[in-house]
Amino acid sequence: MQFAKSKNSYVIRLEKDEEIIESLEKFCKSNAVKSANLWAIGAVLWAELGFYHLDKKEYSFKKLNSPLEIASLIGNVSQADGKPFLHIHAVFADENFNCIGGHLKEAMVGATCEVHLVDFEKNIERKYDSETGLKLLDCALIS
Ligand code: ZN
Repeated sequence: MQFAKSKNSYVIRLEKDEEIIESLEKFCKSNAVKSANLWAIGAVLWAELGFYHLDKKEYSFKKLNSPLEIASLIGNVSQADGKPFLHIHAVFADENFNCIGGHLKEAMVGATCEVHLVDFEKNIERKYDSETGLKLLDCALIS
């Protein structure tokens, strides 16, 4: 990974064989980023996407075991249980230009992953919501 900072935003280049979620969690910890918006393009060797079933309050997951373009990746960073919490959705394109998308569980960088991250410079917490079964952003807890 390499990165550059300008004011409150970062350009981050993730390299081949770096896992996207884990790498960005580490980046946020080591740069004291408590909350942020981020987006990226690039390519992955494989990825795993999730779909949340609100009625069952659980995710189902699908592993994509081939190289894919990151056609679009967008998400945010907040805090949950004292740690960075990354919520990212992504659309991937295959060699036939077909797209598939969803909630990003894991993805391994292929050629590169070019991330732009804007630090919100506040602490935004997530709080468990029993109605959805998810840890939702709690804007009342911004400090
Ligand atoms: Zn999601």
